Amino acid sequence: MDKPQKPDPVRRFRDYRWDATDLLAYKEEGSAPFKAITRQTLFRDPALRAELRYFEVSPGGYSTLERHEHMHAVLILRGGGECLIGGEVRKIQTNDLVSIAPWTWHQFRASADDHLGFLCMVNVERDKPVQPTAEERKALEADPRIAAFLKQD
Ligand code: MN
Repeated sequence: MDKPQKPDPVRRFRDYRWDATDLLAYKEEGSAPFKAITRQTLFRDPALRAELRYFEVSPGGYSTLERHEHMHAVLILRGGGECLIGGEVRKIQTNDLVSIAPWTWHQFRASADDHLGFLCMVNVERDKPVQPTAEERKALEADPRIAAFLKQD
């Protein structure tokens, strides 16, 4: 009888894919607005209580505008773009680190001509993100830079 195969402790990287790692949908289709973004779960260990994901946004794509209690620790691994963090729109490029504090509005957008790939560390157990109400969105759009950022859909 075959012995159960132990997972290889080294998973090779090529073209922003890792061996033995599924390329997944960002989240369930129709559950929230997003565009052209994929997810790979790189590490997930309840004992570690953390999960490390790699998200990749194609040119012109974006993650969901959301906020939640849990934090994000983000490392830009590929390309560049912009992100909304709370009341600010910031340019981001490869190797930048982005900290998203609890209950801070955030959204990542790839440039029109570049991919945006990033590692994102979160708690394994975490609360569900919420999206802005119409009023909260209006309040964000009071800032013209944020309005321009959100309008690129
Ligand atoms: Mn989030």
